[in-house]
Amino acid sequence: MSKQVTIDQEECMGCEACVEICPEVFGFDIDEGKAYVIVEEDGDCDEECIEEAVGSCPAGCISYE
Ligand code: SF4
Repeated sequence: MSKQVTIDQEECMGCEACVEICPEVFGFDIDEGKAYVIVEEDGDCDEECIEEAVGSCPAGCISYE
């Protein structure tokens, strides 16, 4: 089973770190000021870049499991 990446949008601070690190996976909702997940399954995504985004999120609100 492939891992899924999710963002707890309640906790997201809108810093855009994840979007900068991994733009294929994370998009940014300008109206909400929060990031969202473009692709929830890790199909073609680079796992390392997702892990890096998880580690870089200051709110700790990205999960990948
Ligand atoms: S790194 Fe975390 S806090 Fe920053 S935009 Fe992404 S999900 Fe939100």
